[in-house]
Amino acid sequence: MDVKLHISFEFFSVKTQHGLEKVHAMCTELARYEPEFYSVTYGAGGSTRSSTHDLAISLQRAGFETAPHLSFGSDDQADIIALLSTYKAEGISNLVALRGDLPSGLGGTKSLVHANELVALTRQSFGTRFDINVAAYPEIHPESESYHSDLYWLGEKLRAGANRAITQYFFNADAYFRFIDEAQKVGIDAPVIPGIMPITNFLNLVRFSDNCGAEIPRWLRWQLKQRSADSEDLIRFGIDVVTQLCSRLIEGGAPGLHFYTMNNLAVTNELCQNLSLPRQL
Ligand code: FAD
Repeated sequence: MDVKLHISFEFFSVKTQHGLEKVHAMCTELARYEPEFYSVTYGAGGSTRSSTHDLAISLQRAGFETAPHLSFGSDDQADIIALLSTYKAEGISNLVALRGDLPSGLGGTKSLVHANELVALTRQSFGTRFDINVAAYPEIHPESESYHSDLYWLGEKLRAGANRAITQYFFNADAYFRFIDEAQKVGIDAPVIPGIMPITNFLNLVRFSDNCGAEIPRWLRWQLKQRSADSEDLIRFGIDVVTQLCSRLIEGGAPGLHFYTMNNLAVTNELCQNLSLPRQL
């Protein structure tokens, strides 16, 4: 039996009515690729708590299967359970459960709750009501003690009850394939969906990659730097590079793609068209 390639689209939360309408329009357009869900990010430390909640609920009410991202931030267990109860009442059944990061400037004032604990709390309180996604890092989380400890903690998130992992973005397909091999060796057999970052702006990509520990290969960095003054050229080149990356991932057996859309419809659309989505595995 043919299995469908898992597709999901990620948006950041918005603060205005115009922004909300724009995301709705994007979801309407992207529905043709038959995604499993549309996810909505959660600002570091829970800083977008209400806008994430509002966008997720508004999308779900409009009939788009939504996956709010969630971390403890400054919440306690009762707050998290209350938030999840609201999501449950709204018919939301997908989540992206994270430790998250602290907003810059607050470092060290609060300890973060690891994602495996959030997954465990969700399972204890809501059984199998939610389908839970967690984060994975083919190039390894920047705070990790070692390659294998990061894999161990990914395993703990899955053993706590997560259904699948979505990766941090990367531009080196071999890092993903090696990670999958290593994960299988330690008994991780849940789907690990590659996270796909479109390339639209050189400086933003460099800044973001430095912060989250994603590597921009030297050849790619040079190519992007040379094109950085001509945004149309950079975007065209970026679409080509990312399309090739996605094709290689699909050919190599990746079970799906999660697009970090950066709320950019045109580029996401073009990537999906180039890849002839939706498609079977
Ligand atoms: P954890 O799984 O808790 O891991 C964090 C670090 O601690 C790792 O180094 C891990 O090896 C280690 N570790 C894990 N568990 C334990 C434990 N129990 N004891 C000791 N060490 C442990 N950030 C946001 O702020 N908002 C978002 O919406 C958001 N969405 C994301 C979506 C995806 C698909 C991905 C890949 C990342 C996203 N992030 C988001 C970034 C993420 O919050 C950061 O990378 C954060 O630093 C780690 O979150 P985590 O859930 O992976 O943490």
